[in-house]
Amino acid sequence: MAAGSAIQIPSRLPLLLTHEGVLLPGSTMRTSVDSPRNMQLVRSRLLKGTSLRSTIIGVIPNTSDPTSDCDDLPSLHRIGTAALAVQVVGSNWPKPHYTLLVTGLCRFQILQLLKEKPYPVAEVEQLDRLEQFTNQHKSEEELGELSEQFYKYAVQILDAVRLEERFKMTIPLLVRQIEGLKLLQKTRKPKQDDDKRVVAIRPNRRINHIPSTAEDEEEEEDHDDVVMLEKKIRTSSMSEQALKVCLKEIKRLKKMPQSMPEYALTRNYLELMVELPWNKSTKDRLEIRAARILLDNDHYAMEKLKKRVLEYLAVRQLKNNLKGPILCFVGPPGVGKTSVGRSIAKTLGREFHRIALGGVCDQSDIRGHRRTYVGSMPGRIINGLKTVGVNNPVFLLDEVDKLGKSLQGDPAAALLEVLDPEQNHSFTDHYLNVAFDLSQVLFIATANTTATIPPALLDRMEIIQVPGYTQEEKIEIAHRHLIPKQLEQHGLTPQQIQIPQVTTLDIITRYTREAGVRSLDRKLGAICRAVAVKVAEGQHKETKPDRAEVGEGEDCKEHVTEDAKPESISDTADLALPPEMPILIDFHALKDILGPPMYETEVSERLSQPGVAIGLAWTPLGGEIMFVEASRMDGEGQLTLTGQLGDVMKESAHLAISWLRSNAKRYQLTNASGSFDLLDNTDIHLHFPAGAVTKDGPSAGVTIVTCLASLFSGRLVCSDVAMTGEITLRGLVLPVGGIKDKVLAAHRAGLKRIIIPRRNEKDLEEIAMNVRQDLTFVMASCLDEVLNAAFDGGFAVKPRVERLNSKL
Ligand code: ADP
Repeated sequence: MAAGSAIQIPSRLPLLLTHEGVLLPGSTMRTSVDSPRNMQLVRSRLLKGTSLRSTIIGVIPNTSDPTSDCDDLPSLHRIGTAALAVQVVGSNWPKPHYTLLVTGLCRFQILQLLKEKPYPVAEVEQLDRLEQFTNQHKSEEELGELSEQFYKYAVQILDAVRLEERFKMTIPLLVRQIEGLKLLQKTRKPKQDDDKRVVAIRPNRRINHIPSTAEDEEEEEDHDDVVMLEKKIRTSSMSEQALKVCLKEIKRLKKMPQSMPEYALTRNYLELMVELPWNKSTKDRLEIRAARILLDNDHYAMEKLKKRVLEYLAVRQLKNNLKGPILCFVGPPGVGKTSVGRSIAKTLGREFHRIALGGVCDQSDIRGHRRTYVGSMPGRIINGLKTVGVNNPVFLLDEVDKLGKSLQGDPAAALLEVLDPEQNHSFTDHYLNVAFDLSQVLFIATANTTATIPPALLDRMEIIQVPGYTQEEKIEIAHRHLIPKQLEQHGLTPQQIQIPQVTTLDIITRYTREAGVRSLDRKLGAICRAVAVKVAEGQHKETKPDRAEVGEGEDCKEHVTEDAKPESISDTADLALPPEMPILIDFHALKDILGPPMYETEVSERLSQPGVAIGLAWTPLGGEIMFVEASRMDGEGQLTLTGQLGDVMKESAHLAISWLRSNAKRYQLTNASGSFDLLDNTDIHLHFPAGAVTKDGPSAGVTIVTCLASLFSGRLVCSDVAMTGEITLRGLVLPVGGIKDKVLAAHRAGLKRIIIPRRNEKDLEEIAMNVRQDLTFVMASCLDEVLNAAFDGGFAVKPRVERLNSKL
């Protein structure tokens, strides 16, 4: 205001077009400048020579699309704000830009645009001339009076230097503010007399109580609620400590005016305290034989996991307490970890609650926020207890391997306290601020990998590995569990839809690539949805009124056919597909519903050139097959590696090249110009496709050697071979981890021969017999053995075998 009255702005102003809000006179705004036009303005008007303080620019809101990079000046808003550039900061990251701090002085109107380039300049007329009202025309203008009044009030407060004076001045303002808030609360109900609604703070409402207006009735209701709440507190079975705190809080609540924000806070707190299951539990019904049957009924395969779970339950039955390690199921997604947790709860007759920990990086997520914070709430454990309503549920701590860490404390530490049987009988959530006994809760954890579980937490848990499934297992799971569940969810019956096993196999091999059965389940869901539409359409077309009389089955079919004929004799769809005939999902139907297959013939296609080999990788999502590609070109002996590789993997690549160079003569490997020095005038590029995932670890060593051997020999690697193994400079093959998952991945991809390090032979015992029967395993202890197995007819040391043709 002071600025507006004194400032005289220039009649020509350079114009800054900004997307970041509207600058008003008297306010300050920080705006980022990166368009060429604005950058030019800043450079020549604000940074060159002229003193920054005296530089006034015009700021115009730019209403055009901020992303359009158009060269033409957009149509300008007619009114803008003259501003003083107070600060200019330049930066080159992420791209060159300036940050301007501008203070609005007064508004102006554009009279004429004088130039557009390199930045716009306009002739302007100043608008906010406040001195007009305050000084010259004060007596004539009503606005002048108002402005003067406003000015006076503002200066009053500014002059209040003494504390007492300041209190006196600000208290009425505060009261007004509170009353305003109250009004806002009450506006839910329309009332006539607005003034009366502003309720003064009454020290004792009961004495003044005359329930005449709607508002009084409302208060009366609230009062009743508080009395009820107190009653509930007194009759609840909460701990002594909690009861004491609650009674104190309810005493405070009674004295508190409802309009105080703390009123709602305290009330929410007390309601939660009453609701919590302090002493409420379900009765365990554990009968091991029944548990075994239930687990078997709910889950196909997973024998090892089921066995361990039964042992765990048996020990619990005998010992009748929960102390002991916490079970943690580790495996790829969709292998049934959560589902087994749910079955355990069902077996025990307990409530089940899943707590997702993925991405949790704040300890208050576990332990709650202190009640002093606005929007504070209890942590997930207490919330979970409130949801299930009993104090002995099964809590599934999902994805403990994805816990984060941040400045807000370490959630893993809070979780440790929750899981520790020595401490968790008096777990104190920050929000509750009194201890709650968690010792009856049965915790189970799940993770995709143990590598990222915080060590202290890992120490508390017993890890049970849940590997991926074979194709056969998946088919069984689909037909025993997934399909019946999907049919039920979609309101379909086996009389309406039939999915033969070959179709399921097609879905598994051509539409999904996963260790678990989650995508498979989703695809089955998609099929059921499509069929549900067809069935619903069929029912709609049917002549409905008589259907009930005729009943189901054959009779019904006859009826529909005969009755429908006269009406829609040409409608062959009705005749060809009466509703009682199941819709058979064959491969054509599959293609119609799910689209063309996603994974087909890829393996043999990709292996149709020399310089490609298939490796086996382990990831937290299960095993995967991994293509390694190599190419060579004229150059200076450089090695380029792409595909998001870790350091260990890069080392393997260097090792592989060194070994091949030192063995080039023996294998008759030459570069393009026929030299045994493979890197002479030659660059090599190695690529590991599917680059989004970082890959690391030494196990790709043998694959890189094979891929390069293929490149330099011009021979194709057999299209049904996959391999894994670490290498040494001297050509030895060392054992690696994750053999079981890797073998399953190779089996899923339809590969037949698998080369593994000899010292991993013992790991094959874990693999199901039917999978082993489908595959040929080659145990290799040195690279010669690997190469011999990877190429058809072996990779003989001299004479050089002619390039194999694509018949392979
Ligand atoms: P995870 O927790 O391992 O990611 P889920 O428990 O969510 O996997 O399982 C995904 C789906 O697959 C669920 O519907 C589950 O019932 C089903 N499922 C997984 N494994 C089996 C199995 N062995 N038998 C029956 N159903 C299974």
